[in-house]
Amino acid sequence: MNRKPIIVAGALLIAFLAGQAAEAKRWGCWIQADRNVKIRNTANNATAAVNDWNSLTILNLTSVGSGEETYVFNANSGNTGWGGLASIVSYSGCTILRATAQLNTYYSWTTNAARGVHCQEIGHTFGLDHSNDGGCMGGGYWYDIATHYTIVQKNINEIGTMYASRVAGSPDFSTVGPEVDTPRFHAFWANNPRSLRETTGLASQIVVATVTGIAKGAPIVNRQPDGHVSRIPTQRVSFSVEGGIKGSLEAGDSFVLFQNGNAANRFDEDPSYAPGSRHLLFLTARGDGTYLVVSPSGRFELSDGDGHSELIPAATQGFAADLKGAKLQHVMFDVVRSLAPVDAE
Ligand SMILES: [Zn+2]
Repeated sequence: MNRKPIIVAGALLIAFLAGQAAEAKRWGCWIQADRNVKIRNTANNATAAVNDWNSLTILNLTSVGSGEETYVFNANSGNTGWGGLASIVSYSGCTILRATAQLNTYYSWTTNAARGVHCQEIGHTFGLDHSNDGGCMGGGYWYDIATHYTIVQKNINEIGTMYASRVAGSPDFSTVGPEVDTPRFHAFWANNPRSLRETTGLASQIVVATVTGIAKGAPIVNRQPDGHVSRIPTQRVSFSVEGGIKGSLEAGDSFVLFQNGNAANRFDEDPSYAPGSRHLLFLTARGDGTYLVVSPSGRFELSDGDGHSELIPAATQGFAADLKGAKLQHVMFDVVRSLAPVDAE
């Protein structure tokens, strides 16, 4: 069987067509009022990233002590599953009035990885989405953020396209919208598995389970020395286990999942769960008796049909997104196979 050349040709064609569109990879319709952005940076390990966005793009970033449009900080938010977070705090239409870029210091970071995560989160606050361009906006998704921690020419072009003729008070761009339902939280996940095998390895529990209840959780609160307080809602989602594939959870057991955000404060790729919905979940223990999905790549809703259920991935990029429509029984077979001791193939 020699199908590889055909697949490669297909991928090249798709890359070519995507290149033809030459459209900025935008995060929903979010955009700053104009290229003059007031930025307040309290994180030493973000300074290089701020300087890059300022000096290499047409953005004119002014350092301020208050009244900022982008706020950059480090804080320990605990074992939330995310290592970095961009959030749109206030807005008018699609125009960002105030956004934040945070590194979660609960997780440990090398200097370059911290710079890369800040680079990506700050980029989100200018309205950019993830893109497989070799720069920080693709870190975690397509390659390691610690070795791809700066902006690249594509980002410079994208910012140019978005802001060259943008003046404060002008209508929001309409290229992507309407985006009334755009999530306001964009996370850099602490785990970035690139395959089903890797996701299986990261999970302490792999289950098929159904949502039986959703309760409000304690908010993630961060008080900064300068008085800034961020409050991110969370939920406690109860599940009933239908079957366990890895770990101790088995049919009839129940568990609680820690979930970032809620229906009104949605995390990109990790929205609230619907009561009664059925999922294939790759979980890690959070340390407080609850569980987290290893990343959105470990979260799949299941369509009706028992053994013939098909996967609906939460992830919008990477291997997990490619599993859309895959049969549950086939994926379970692959998971079980990757759990088996390695033998000669
Ligand atoms: Zn991101």
